[in-house]
Amino acid sequence: MGRWVVNSAWPYVNSLPHLGTFIHLLSADVYARYLRLKGEEVIAVTGSDEHGTPIEVEAIRKGVTPRQLTDQIHKQICELLEAYNIRLDNYTRTESPVHIRYTQELYRKVYENGYIYTQNVNLPYCETDKRFLPDRFVEGTCPHCGYEQARGDQCDSCGRVLDPLELIRPKCVFCGGTPTVKSSTHWFFDLPKFRDRLSTIVRENKQLPENARNFSLRWLEEGLKPRALTRDNKWGIPAPFPGAEGKTIYVWLEAVLGYVSASIEWAEKSGRPEAWKDFWFNQDTKNVHFIGKDNIPFHVIIFPALLLATHDPYVLPWQVSSTEFILFDGQKFSKSNKIGVWIDDALKVAPGEYWRYVLIAIRPEARDANFTWRDFESHVNTELNDVLGNFVHRTLTFVNNHFDSAVPKPGSLDEKDQAIKKLIEEAPTKVASLLDDFQLRNGLATIIELARAGNQYLSEREPWHLIKTDRGKAGTTLYFASELVRTLGILLSPFLPETTHQIQEQLNLNTTDNITWWDAGKPGLEPGHKIGKPTPLFHKITVSKQS
Ligand SMILES: [Zn+2]
Ligand SMILES: [Zn+2]
Repeated sequence: MGRWVVNSAWPYVNSLPHLGTFIHLLSADVYARYLRLKGEEVIAVTGSDEHGTPIEVEAIRKGVTPRQLTDQIHKQICELLEAYNIRLDNYTRTESPVHIRYTQELYRKVYENGYIYTQNVNLPYCETDKRFLPDRFVEGTCPHCGYEQARGDQCDSCGRVLDPLELIRPKCVFCGGTPTVKSSTHWFFDLPKFRDRLSTIVRENKQLPENARNFSLRWLEEGLKPRALTRDNKWGIPAPFPGAEGKTIYVWLEAVLGYVSASIEWAEKSGRPEAWKDFWFNQDTKNVHFIGKDNIPFHVIIFPALLLATHDPYVLPWQVSSTEFILFDGQKFSKSNKIGVWIDDALKVAPGEYWRYVLIAIRPEARDANFTWRDFESHVNTELNDVLGNFVHRTLTFVNNHFDSAVPKPGSLDEKDQAIKKLIEEAPTKVASLLDDFQLRNGLATIIELARAGNQYLSEREPWHLIKTDRGKAGTTLYFASELVRTLGILLSPFLPETTHQIQEQLNLNTTDNITWWDAGKPGLEPGHKIGKPTPLFHKITVSKQS
């Protein structure tokens, strides 16, 4: 049995997550469910990322305190995750006392180990607003790619991490004025000290997807710069260094530590406060992250460097499943321009289960994916409803109507029966090989292909005619079709937990049995077993009018 920590990018709670952010939480949920079904030991953790300048900006705009804003959004997210059946072991927040304590302890240790130093730095300062302008309080043109809306901390276009003073034509986000430059003492993390070790780690990690590997190697070759750790902001975690009163830790450099602190909180809540070490200090643990490509630097370079700087035996990220972007009608999701779909509005259009399906079906694993309402409707109506829903419903209805709800006994098998039997037997291995390679999208598509093959089997066999001429052969057909329904009910469960629960119920199988992934390839229905009442799993939807 393996041990896993499954992490996903923490939603930044200046607003509710849109689908492009939500897909990472969903991917983590699907993956954790898959691993558990295989009998692996898993903790899946994430939470709300709630410090930093964008939240301060949003709170000022709304006339509330940053904490009032994040309290409200955190609560809403927790409720929405329920509605989407996202069941993580811990969904916490960066205002959690455990996270604050852990962050301060870690940085004290890194400081004592000699990787933190102070320096007087020149920072953009707005004379009108009488404040320093760190990170997103200043905007301008990216010096690397020329993108004009680059923010002080990172360029959204080329993905590079920036220093606010690097920006060409900088502007204060509050008043639009040109900032002056003023000196302030700050604490720095000596990231360049880890360049050689990180280069080796990245080169030797064969798991990393191409985008993460290439991006990180390019960055390492360009040379790492020390990272400013502190900010002149009140909203954040107080910096624990001598003389750093009034300064807070930069949001990005504490939120990434949430993976560990959320695991510690999980251990404390489960009454075994040391249990997190079984995962994070055990070199056999596989540490997996589901993130967007814009988060690669923090997960492949900065987070591992911080863990190395503690001199504690942390397990470093093993897989960083960094997907490309989901575009909305060809454009980047943007809150300010109201482009995209947010997780609360999405539920007004279709149930969470439908979104789980469509988002994994378009998961941008190799290139950007384009979300359109027309495609959403087509995925639901053709794949979920016509292929999967229809196969399950026609099979179970036929057993109900023609075999008195009892799974028929198979007779002698011909070529077509053998083929469908083989398909069932090979399905768990075939899908697992894709999921083990983090190809969630192809894994799901392969399961839907099984349902398609089931429909084809029924159409070719025409049991509705056979039942009048060769009841035995019709029985064999329905036996294998029912077995395939059961197989689908297991393999789909990481993706569609609610639907598969319904399939189990309609098959009248005990849902509390310890079913494993591999059981999906073995016979599981005794001839004569009485099935339950078939009801349609899905319905068609019409949403094209929304676009
Ligand atoms: Zn750029
Ligand atoms: Zn200003």
